[in-house]
Amino acid sequence: MPARVSEALVLRTYPLKEADLVVSFFTRDQGKLRGVAKRARRPKSPFGAGLERLSHVRMAYFQRETRELVNLDSCELIHSQFGLVSDYRAGVALDYFAEVGEQLLPAAEPSEKFFRLLLAVLEHLKSAAQAVWPAVTYFSLWAVRLSGWLPELNVCLSCGSLLDDAESPERAFFSRGRAGLICGHCRSALGAGNSWELSAESRSLALEMLSKPIGKLSRSHWDQSTAADLRRFLVQQIEGHVERRLITVPLLEDHV
Ligand SMILES: [Zn+2]
Repeated sequence: MPARVSEALVLRTYPLKEADLVVSFFTRDQGKLRGVAKRARRPKSPFGAGLERLSHVRMAYFQRETRELVNLDSCELIHSQFGLVSDYRAGVALDYFAEVGEQLLPAAEPSEKFFRLLLAVLEHLKSAAQAVWPAVTYFSLWAVRLSGWLPELNVCLSCGSLLDDAESPERAFFSRGRAGLICGHCRSALGAGNSWELSAESRSLALEMLSKPIGKLSRSHWDQSTAADLRRFLVQQIEGHVERRLITVPLLEDHV
């Protein structure tokens, strides 16, 4: 039983028997793993507060080839997210990051880029009030991109026409169950039922986000309406691929 220590972010925990927890955690070097933390719900557990969602920790565990669950030994806290708990919306954003990570990340496949994405948005979230919206939007876009599902944002999926041709810019629409964007002509021709528009402004913001770190975005003022259409599009892409609705989204966007 080799002992291993991995830098990790805790995604979620659920109770097992009367004192234990099953922990889903995303390690930098081994990808997403699941393990049992014995006696983690007892006072003086060797895990302390390290198993809160999105705690950044060094996790010590034992891994056996033949078992799906690893045995957690202890963890050392690097950064907690306690500073954010007094802000309701930031707390829900943490729940959203954890839920998307839990749903999207394949088991035991390392992704250094996804790990760095999570660290970057967590850091950004702490940087300022109103940082929730850029953090959530940036995370959603890159989570879809890193999963390999981001469609072209400037081409109609149906007819192939360019959407931001300088001579004749087209409006762009999306709908649940469709992988990419379609132009206004195709939207009418296809009779695409429920659809939403993805504004040119949000599309250009997305292109900027794909080329810059989150701290370097040119837009300084954000509120909930900023790029709300882009977030709706990205959430629909995620939900289509994981084949379920994300439970944190209605809380985050007040779609209750
Ligand atoms: Zn078209």
